[in-house]
Amino acid sequence: MKIILASNNKDKLREVSEILAPLGIEVISQRQAGVRLEAEENGSTFVENARIKARAAMEATGEACVADDSGIEINALGGGPGIYSSRYCGDSSYAETCQKLIKIVNCSDDRGARFRCAVVCVFPNGDEIVSEGVIEGSIGLKYEGENGFGYDPIFVPEGMGRTMACLTDQEKNAISHRGRAFRDFAGKLKKYIESQGTKE
Ligand code: IMP
Repeated sequence: MKIILASNNKDKLREVSEILAPLGIEVISQRQAGVRLEAEENGSTFVENARIKARAAMEATGEACVADDSGIEINALGGGPGIYSSRYCGDSSYAETCQKLIKIVNCSDDRGARFRCAVVCVFPNGDEIVSEGVIEGSIGLKYEGENGFGYDPIFVPEGMGRTMACLTDQEKNAISHRGRAFRDFAGKLKKYIESQGTKE
C-alpha cells in the first residue's frame, strides 16, 4: 500500500516512512508525486492545519493524501508555541531558540511540556481519517543530543533522563507523538480499506 505524505519536511518524511514501513505502508512525498505545494497553515488547531495540507495535496494529485501538523506545548508559555512551533523561531536557528526556551523555563516553576501531533488523511470521495498522538515530558536543564530535529534537544520524555535528541530514530518513533498518531492512523486506514472492499 502506498500513501502520499503532504509535506516538504525531510525529517518528517524519514520518520513517517520508518513508522509506517513495518506496517506495510510505503510513503511517498508530495514532491515525488509531482506536486510542489506550500499550503497556508491558517487553521486554529493542529487538526485543522493537517486537514488544510492534506486537502491541498489531495486536490493537486487527485489521490488520497495524508498530512501531519505537530508542535510543542510548553506550560511556562501557557501551552505555546503550539501550532506556531515552526514559526516561533523567526530568523533564529533551532539551537538559538532552544537556548532561549531553556532560559524562559528556568524562570518558571513548571518545566512541563508535550509534543502533539495530528494526522489527517483526505480521500478524493471526501472521506477523512483523523488521528492524534501526544508525548508528555519536560524542558531539560540543558541542550543535549544530536539526533532528531527541531525542539528534540530540549525535550525530555516523561520517565527518561535524557532528551529526545539522545534517542535513535527507532527509539524516538516508538514513543513519539508522531509515532503514536501514525500507528493509530495505520490501523484506521487498514480498517477503512477493508470496509471499502466489502462495499463493492
Ligand atoms: P509543522 O511542519 O507545521 O507540523 O511544524 C512542526 C514544528 O513543530 C517543527 O518544525 C518543529 O519545530 C516542531 N516539532 C514537531 N514535531 C517535532 C519533533 O518530533 N521534534 C522536534 N520538534 C518538533
